[in-house]
Amino acid sequence: MKNITPLFLVILACACHRQEPTPGSWDMCPAPRSISFAEDSVTIHPGKLKIREISDPSLGAGLKPFQQQECYKLEVSKRGITLTAASETGLLRGRQTLLKALSEGRCVKLPAATIWDYPEFSYRAFMLDCGRHYFPVETIKDILDVMAVHQMNEFHWHLSEDQGWRLEIKKYPRLTAVGSVRAGDPVPGQKDHNGIPHSGFYTQAEAREIVAYAAAKGIEVIPEIDLPGHMKAALASYPELGCTGGPYEVACEWGVLDDVLCAGKEHTLAFVKDVLSEVMDIFPSRYIHLGGDECPKVRWEACPHCQSKIKELGLKADGKKTAEELLQSWFMDQASAFVEARGRRSIVWNDVLVDWGNDVIGAPSHNTVIAGWMRPVSTEIAVREGYDAIFCPVGHLYLSAADGNALKGEAYFRRVLDAPVPKKILGVEACLWSERVSEPDSILWRILPRLSAVAELQWSAPASRDYSSFLLRVKRMQELYTAHGWAWNPAAE
Ligand SMILES: [Zn+2]
Repeated sequence: MKNITPLFLVILACACHRQEPTPGSWDMCPAPRSISFAEDSVTIHPGKLKIREISDPSLGAGLKPFQQQECYKLEVSKRGITLTAASETGLLRGRQTLLKALSEGRCVKLPAATIWDYPEFSYRAFMLDCGRHYFPVETIKDILDVMAVHQMNEFHWHLSEDQGWRLEIKKYPRLTAVGSVRAGDPVPGQKDHNGIPHSGFYTQAEAREIVAYAAAKGIEVIPEIDLPGHMKAALASYPELGCTGGPYEVACEWGVLDDVLCAGKEHTLAFVKDVLSEVMDIFPSRYIHLGGDECPKVRWEACPHCQSKIKELGLKADGKKTAEELLQSWFMDQASAFVEARGRRSIVWNDVLVDWGNDVIGAPSHNTVIAGWMRPVSTEIAVREGYDAIFCPVGHLYLSAADGNALKGEAYFRRVLDAPVPKKILGVEACLWSERVSEPDSILWRILPRLSAVAELQWSAPASRDYSSFLLRVKRMQELYTAHGWAWNPAAE
């Protein structure tokens, strides 16, 4: 044991003379690994909260390395509050648990307890699509605050789309000058868009600000540049990147579009590497997301550049894989290898490996991490094929619509909590796509309190995933959301 640091944190600000203590509670989401209660209770006075913090690198010896990295022991008794962890990240997680047990701004009477805690998975993510709609930096920070309360550690930031390119790339200024602006949003049931322009992008300085803000909360920011489909905004900016050469417009419609990056031109790969180079300069994350989803092959089938590349590489259809699907595997591997040469790891959506029919249609490099979004079995197939995989099936973990997937009331939680999480995965991710989310204020309303259930999948021990216990604990989370001023959906009550 070393670096014993008595740290005096003043967290609560107002005085509480003669005020009856408010009952604090260890009911929270995600459920800590274990809580043992003593018989007494502790009254914590606002302005007098002292935490003795101890850094003990041997704590959690025997756990998996990522679990030890985030494990902590929190002891609250009449003798005081002691927080021990093997790393600074573990101290962060323990402080978060203590803060959740207290009621903001009041004297709190808390059951004396010892908490021993560590996460189930190393990858605990929330994804926000800022391509379909741009959201301000302050909104991103709010989301990071919410993620921290739920012990999440990966913010997956979807930054490029057919409908908007959102990150400044200095070598290609038209990506934001042209690609971040679209003429309007689609109107359901109508051919024309609404004529209201939508725009916005993050400067590199703003992106770095987000990275630093997240890091202070123990959260890594994983940028996504979606290749080679969902690239219409980039094509509108630089038409030579497409198979036909355009002209193209930033999309004012949702869905899967036929115009994608030309995989056959050397110029395209140089563009991809230039962009990824700047992206990796901004984001120090272990992972870089390269998309790979929903890439129609219709342009490639007719493109002399793509066909000549297929011939040059000797790619041949073999039963279930077409030559164009193998071309996408090759293209993604080129981008992945570039990322790996900088010591990072790429993530791609499962489309690159497995389709809706559960057939294996691609052969990406085995260093690539597969994000299984189509069905729960998509992730299982990725694991079976020898890949590290992330579980994010649309039917369970897409939180885009407040009443999406017919989730209401109890089903809100059951659908998430009962998700069939496969074994041997890297982690679990919830996603919010923003086709129909344009107001920043509505994001939290859509994801809370469902994020509490997501956090249980990500952090808590599978054996503790008890529904009646969860219902008690999520009530407490709703109180916390209200105390923070975060909108949450009462339809889930
Ligand atoms: Zn082409």
